[in-house]
Amino acid sequence: MSTLTVERLTVGYGDGAPVLDGLDLEVPDGGVVALLGANGAGKTTLLRALTGLTPVRSGRVLLDGADLTGLPTEDRVRRGLALVPEGRGVVAELTVAENLRLGALWRYAGRGGRPGRDAAVGQMYELFEPLARRRDAAGHTLSGGERQMLALARALVARPSVLLLDEPSLGLAPLVVAQLLGVLRDQAEATGLTVLLAEQNVTGALSVADRGVVLSLGEVVADRPAAALAADPALRHAYLGF
Ligand code: ATP
Repeated sequence: MSTLTVERLTVGYGDGAPVLDGLDLEVPDGGVVALLGANGAGKTTLLRALTGLTPVRSGRVLLDGADLTGLPTEDRVRRGLALVPEGRGVVAELTVAENLRLGALWRYAGRGGRPGRDAAVGQMYELFEPLARRRDAAGHTLSGGERQMLALARALVARPSVLLLDEPSLGLAPLVVAQLLGVLRDQAEATGLTVLLAEQNVTGALSVADRGVVLSLGEVVADRPAAALAADPALRHAYLGF
């Protein structure tokens, strides 16, 4: 539904050397791009800079050509950006249903929004069947996989146009990883959702991505079709450690 463009983005912490140094990247409308790179390559920093959680030193972030760079996070969210941060941030004290309603709140505001909100939450139960079974369970009682599903569903329920994910497969069983990545692929195909997927799970990410982008020392060192990247052992060895 939207194209995300990053132009010459430079980001750093304090007075330190830049973590991202003049980075260019495009995530096309309805595409899935895997963002790869060793620990500390700057994947989290990029996702946080895109959402306005980490300030940028220079460069621009554009959504369908509109400059988001100076906007606060909530304005970027209203324009369609959503971030699923690392660590499955769901509200532990709230139930699955409450977490989902919370995610949908801003999109379907007020009394009039309730039918739309309920329909959107119902759709999430269709996408993530384990959540339907556990809709009244508190967040802290969920398994790691269920929690990650809820974090993803809570982002999707507000119908973002661009979804940014930080290591959703971390620590999850292969079957759950396959299920989660499959939902992302399906959503991109069915609804035109644009996805930027930061992952250490290179094989999993490239299996659902159209393109793979490799970060190293703050720069993009490869930006290729996912299949070509997966089939390049020299590149994998040099930058991805296997
Ligand atoms: P990982 O896979 O380990 O999460 P990453 O690719 O997401 O790695 P970042 O977390 O973006 O990488 O970190 C990139 C660099 O920025 C690292 O050198 C890290 O130490 C540094 N860094 C990250 N957050 C901060 C911060 N809040 N203050 C100072 N330096 C930071």
